[in-house]
Amino acid sequence: MKLIILGAPGAGKGTQAQLIADKYGIPHIATGDILRDAIQSGKMLGATARSFMERGKLVPDEIVIELTLRRLSQDDCKNGFILDGFPRTLRQAKEFTERHEIDMVIDIHVDESVLISRVTGRRSCPHCREVYHVKINPPRKEGICDRCGFDLILRDDDTEAILTNRLRVFHEETEPLIEYYSERNLIQEIDGDRDIQAIQASIDDTISHLVKK
Ligand code: AMP
Repeated sequence: MKLIILGAPGAGKGTQAQLIADKYGIPHIATGDILRDAIQSGKMLGATARSFMERGKLVPDEIVIELTLRRLSQDDCKNGFILDGFPRTLRQAKEFTERHEIDMVIDIHVDESVLISRVTGRRSCPHCREVYHVKINPPRKEGICDRCGFDLILRDDDTEAILTNRLRVFHEETEPLIEYYSERNLIQEIDGDRDIQAIQASIDDTISHLVKK
């Protein structure tokens, strides 16, 4: 099963992608996490990526395409994957289409007013990358990751000021992908303004026929 999950920052892509990955045993490939790992490990490329990410801008296509294709060439992706946060531009989508076929693009739609509280309430684990929300999906112990016990953080780019930029970039660069994938009959729209389990159930209904792929 080869899937892409699309949506604005805060739409719930990461949460739903992880649930799908766990349920169907496919890797969850989040380009934001790949880039944050590159920053943490002090790679040259990480320093370049950071300068874009901290301003809420997209990291240049060449860097992201190269990193993503490299990750997808690993053995664990042979039987499927779910891509979260990629593609984000038409160029990324076109270059990806030249190399990989996909089964479906899940587009999670959430109104902009909801996105702001979703993102500013988000808390992330810098170690295992698990994501929480202070109200909707809190950790068992405040400020501590359930999975690995690390202190949770508010990501630098999850502040309201940077989010405004990220939303603008989403409308300008990423929204055109909905048309690109609609023309290829790959889009499935999901209402993301519901609780996590309800969204998960809808996605499950939509993808269950792909299980043997
Ligand atoms: P995310 O964790 O998906 O919200 O991504 C965080 C940031 O990483 C984005 O705001 C971008 O700066 C960068 N990023 C992640 N994926 C991509 C991508 N496919 N193309 C360009 N930049 C990306």
